[in-house]
Amino acid sequence: MTALVRSWVETANDPDGAFPLNNLPFGVFSNGDAPRCAVAIGDRVLDLAALQSAGLLPDHGFDEPALNTFMAKGKAVWGEVRDALTDLLREGNETGAVRAALHAMDAATMHLPFRVAEYTDFYAGRQHAFNVGSLFRDPANALPPNWLHIPIGYNGRASTVVVSGTAFHRPRGQTKAPDADRPSFGPCRRLDIELEMGAVVGTPSEMGRPVTVDEADDMIFGYVLLNDWSARDIQAWEYQPLGPFQAKAFATTIGAWVVTKAALEPFRRPTPPRERELLPYIRDTGPMLYDIDLAVSIAPEGGPATEICRTNYDTLYYSAPQQLAHHASSGCAMRTGDLLGSGTISGPEKGMFGSLLEMTWGGKEAITLEGGETRTFVEDGDTLGLHGHAQGDGYRIGFGPCTGTLLPARDAGA
Ligand code: CA
Repeated sequence: MTALVRSWVETANDPDGAFPLNNLPFGVFSNGDAPRCAVAIGDRVLDLAALQSAGLLPDHGFDEPALNTFMAKGKAVWGEVRDALTDLLREGNETGAVRAALHAMDAATMHLPFRVAEYTDFYAGRQHAFNVGSLFRDPANALPPNWLHIPIGYNGRASTVVVSGTAFHRPRGQTKAPDADRPSFGPCRRLDIELEMGAVVGTPSEMGRPVTVDEADDMIFGYVLLNDWSARDIQAWEYQPLGPFQAKAFATTIGAWVVTKAALEPFRRPTPPRERELLPYIRDTGPMLYDIDLAVSIAPEGGPATEICRTNYDTLYYSAPQQLAHHASSGCAMRTGDLLGSGTISGPEKGMFGSLLEMTWGGKEAITLEGGETRTFVEDGDTLGLHGHAQGDGYRIGFGPCTGTLLPARDAGA
C-alpha cells in the first residue's frame, strides 16, 4: 500500500480529508466566471485553465466547460498530466503561479464534470438482483436465468444526468395497483434511490470493433458516485418486457469529482468467485473492482442526516471493464463521455442494502431517522447523499458527496 504523498497545500495532508495529493480527482468549476476544468486538492480547487494558459500544463482543453477533450486523449496523456500536477503540488515545490490558481472549494460552484454522451445502467449487484427478483417476482426464481452469464443492462437517458446538489421534481407516471382494474396517472408514490458507481469512458471505440476486457479497462478514465433515482410504482407496471423506461428517465445524479483509475490503483480487488464460468470475451483478466467504502444518508428538510446504508464496491459480480467489453461486443460504438452505472450495490446483510426498496422490504418495514421521523420511500424536501472513499495508509481517496433534493411534482404546462 502506498503512503500519503505530502503537498505544500497543508489541508491536503489531513489523513481524514477526501482530496490528498494521491487523489487529484477532475471536475469542472466556476466562481462567478466561465466554467473550466479543475482538480481538487485539500480544501482547494486548482484551476487547470490557468495552469494551461501559464504554460505549466500542455493544452488539453482545460479551458472548456467539460473534461471530454482531455478524457479523449487516453491513458498516456492522463498519466503525464497527473505526474505534472503531482510535481507542481508536492511538498517543497510551492510557486506563486500555482498558488494563484487555487480557489476555496466552499466558494466554488461545481458543474457536470463531462458532457454525458450516453448513459447505460447495468445490474451487477447479485444481492440486489436477488432482492428485487424476490420482491417483484418470486424468491424461488429470483435471479433471472441469464444473470450469471450476461452483465445485464439497459440504455438510459443522458439528458437528465445532473451534478451533485441539483434539486429535481418528483416524477409523474402511469401506475396500477395490483388490485385495481385499470391504471392511473399521477405523482410517483414510491420514489427510491440506487447506490451505484459510474464508470466514465475516456477513449472511444469504433463501431463494429469489439474490445477486450483489458482494452476496456484502459478506455475508462475514472469513476464517480452515481444515484440512479427510481420510481418503483411506475417501474413495476411498465418494466415488462423491455425493462425500465420512465421509472428511471427523470433524474440520475453523479458526484462532481471524477476519481481517476490511477488514484484507485492501490485498491484494486477481484470479483467474487464465478459460480458459472464466464464466456471468454468477458472473463476476468485481473482485479478490476476496487475496495471503496460506500454509504447512503437521508436528511429531511431542515433536519439532521441519518446514515441508512454502508457497503463496499467490491461486492459486485461484474466489473466495469467486463460491462464495457460486453457493451462493445456486438459492435456497439462507445463514446468519450459514456457513463456506465454499475447497478445497485447491495451487500449481503440488511444494513448494506443500496436502495430503500430493499431496506424497507418493499415498503413494509419503515426506517426510523434521527429526530424520530420514519421513511419507507423518499418524501418531498428530503436530501439523499451518497458517500465513498478508499482507505489508504494515512490517507483517503474520497469522491466528494453525491447529493440530490426532491421537490414536489409539477403539473404538465405549469
Ligand atoms: Ca440502477
